[in-house]
Parts: sequence; structure tokens; C-alpha cells
Amino acid sequence: MTPHSPSHAPSQLGSAADWSAAAFAPHAGSGTLARLGGVVLLVASTDPAAVAPLLDQAQMVAANGGDGRQLVRGFALQLSSGAGDEPAFAALAPHGSGLAVIVSGAASVTVDDETITGEGSLSWVERLVPWPIARLVATVDPGGTPLGALYDLGAGVIPAGGVSVSVDETPTMAMSQVVGDAASIPDPAPVPAPAPAPAPAPEPVPVPVPVPVPVPVRPPAPDVVAPPTPAGDRPVLAAMPDAFASFDSVKLRDLEDDEPVTPLPIVADQRDVQASGVVSEVRGVFCKNRHFNDPRVLFCAVCGINMVQQTPVLVNGERPPLGVVVLDDGAVFQLDTDYLLGRDPDADDRVRHGDCRGISIIDTSNMVSRVHARLELRGWDVVLVDNTSTNGTFVNSPKAVEWRRMAAGGDEVLTPGTRIRIGHRTLAFNTHGGQSAAGQSVS
Ligand SMILES: [Zn+2]
Repeated sequence: MTPHSPSHAPSQLGSAADWSAAAFAPHAGSGTLARLGGVVLLVASTDPAAVAPLLDQAQMVAANGGDGRQLVRGFALQLSSGAGDEPAFAALAPHGSGLAVIVSGAASVTVDDETITGEGSLSWVERLVPWPIARLVATVDPGGTPLGALYDLGAGVIPAGGVSVSVDETPTMAMSQVVGDAASIPDPAPVPAPAPAPAPAPEPVPVPVPVPVPVPVRPPAPDVVAPPTPAGDRPVLAAMPDAFASFDSVKLRDLEDDEPVTPLPIVADQRDVQASGVVSEVRGVFCKNRHFNDPRVLFCAVCGINMVQQTPVLVNGERPPLGVVVLDDGAVFQLDTDYLLGRDPDADDRVRHGDCRGISIIDTSNMVSRVHARLELRGWDVVLVDNTSTNGTFVNSPKAVEWRRMAAGGDEVLTPGTRIRIGHRTLAFNTHGGQSAAGQSVS
């Protein structure tokens, strides 16, 4: 096998470049399919509220280069810290010598003769499938059928129950295939039968033509805006609306569910979670199940019970972690103390004296200050403060259309799902599976 002769080995995917150039043919069926750079996400849901958190994750990975290892770690963290009611999905991205695959629930990815499925698994299944790959089919709807060569997902987010990936032998001829001779059209790989697939329907009912939702093009990395615009200028970042940006990804727990839920993310590698052990007192209220909460919330952040039906009594208590910050390499930092973010935060006296912790933002762009920004816990709020950094701190809140440069030295309360960009690096702030309204009631 000579993987180094791509043009003469047209029947196999032998590299990340092949993967990027491959043809992605959607299948009919119920689900959502996204192709964002090298990242492919297939979700067994068309409910925007259910899809959005997964899509956000895929976008974050895609924006940071679409590395498969980061993809798997990011989704694994999301699943382990989530409420467990995520829809089944499969996500794929290249990593080094192969294709990284993560599958959760009744989704399946068939690579050549092997099927990877999360069905029957208590958590998720991940694999690094070595190149070359001759045939790949992912599906969340076993009854779905290939739509044929008329459809080829170049990029974007569309309704689909599955996808077949094949080497695109005529990348520039896509349109001619619409009218072209069927014989030349690459054979749409048949759906494998991970589950007893029903016999082909008499006539595959064409699903609505996948309407390409405006591709949620990520804003370019901030180096695009370099040289830095004068402070106060509107960041010159692309403003393509994020198709799902307007949907709230907040998940409230089932109110009947009285099972204690650990508020901490369970991460496979505990070294990934950096906790301080610092204890701070805040004023808060207890839910009926004795979980300590932000007095502004309507539902307990841990068990989801309605807080309104009881008379709130403000008491002092130990502040629980207010969530986590996830760096784009998958490192997770628990928000139980303040953090300094920058090129060399550990040299700062505040870190050396143990008043806060450092998150090293390693970036070759020279756009990151030694202490670039900090995260402060104020009461029940997580506040991002720009440390009058030279090249600015950028934020993108879940409902915002575009990235925004913070005022130099400015601060703002973070809402769950907000992304932070420093230099070329991205971090995401999230609460745990339970949702508090902290931050939403503060301007
Ligand atoms: Zn509770």
C-alpha cells in the first residue's frame, strides 16, 4: 500500500488531507449532520436545544484545528459532566495516523468491516482507526437510506440520518453529477446493518432537500485582526450568524429525579481536573435536599428541584465550584478559586502565594501577555477580567453573533457556554450539568 500517492490510490482515505477532500453523502432519516472543517458530527436529534451543546463542542474543536484527540477528550468531558440525557451521536476527526471516532448511544460508525457503536455501552466508545480507510458510514437512523450522489455535504449543518464518506474523485465536478451520467457517480455505500435494518422502503421517500443552514463559520483566529485595532474599535471578526446561537443549551434536570448527582465532572484522567481545595463562604440558600445554591436560581443546580416553592433563607455556606473552564487542549480547571490566564501566570506573586492558580496559555503567536486575563469568583458569579492585555481578550457568549473584544482592563460576568479567546487559544466556561441562573440576572 502506498499511501503517499493520493491521486493514484483514489479508493482509500490515507490521511487527514484525504479526509478533508472526501465526499460526504448524507442519508435520509432523522438526525442532524454537521461538517465543520475536519470535524464531522452526527446527532440523533433535530431538536436545536439538544443538538446545540454538541454542535458547540464540535465548533470549538474545529476552530482550534479539528484535532481528533481533542475532539474525543472534549466530548468525553461533556458527556461525563452532563446530565446523561444527551442524544446519541457520533463525532469524527483526524488525528495523526488515523481517524479519531467517539460514539455515544445508539449511533454507529462502520469503518470498512468494523462497526463502532455506543449501543450497549454505559458511557461512550472511542477509537483511533488507522489510515487507510476504504469506506466509512455513520448512522443514527438505521432506517435511513443513502440519498445518492446528488447530495454532497461540502460544509455546514443539515438534517440527515447518516452519512457515507468516500474519496471524492471528482471534487470539482460535483454540480455536473446532478445531471451527469449515473454510471460515473461513486457508488453511495450501502447502509451497513448495525441493527436489523428494515428492508428498503418501496421508494425512499426523499426527505426535504437538506437546506444548508448558514454555515456556522467560525470567526477567524484573532491573528486575522492583527495588527491590533485601536482599543475601542469593533473587532474585525467575521460575523456569520451561528445557526444555533440563539438556542439556549441550558438543561434543567428532571424535577422528579431526587438521585444525588455529583456536581463535579468525572474525567477519565483525573490529572486533567485542577482543583485548588480552597474554601470560600458565600450567602446562599439550601434546596429541600440540602444542596447549597445561588439565591437567585429558580431550580437547584444539583438536583433540579424547584426552589420557588420554599421560603428562601439566606445563610452562609461553603461555595461549591461554580463550574469549569475547559482549555482547547482538553485540560479542565475547576472554578473553586480565582485563576490567572497568560503566558507565564505562575511567575505572578498572586499565584506564588497561593491566592489563585495559573492557567498557562501557550501560544506561538506572541499575542499572549504574561498575565493576560483573570477569572474571579465573586459571590456566585464567575467574572472575566482583562488584565489590560496588549492584544486583547475576546469573548463570545452563547447568544452573541460575533466575537467581541473586551475593553482593556474591563470585566464581565460570564454566562454558561461563553467562550474566551486569548491569542490563538480558546477556553470555554460552563457550569456543571445542573444549571444555575448565576450570571443571567446580573447585567
Ligand atoms: Zn437540590
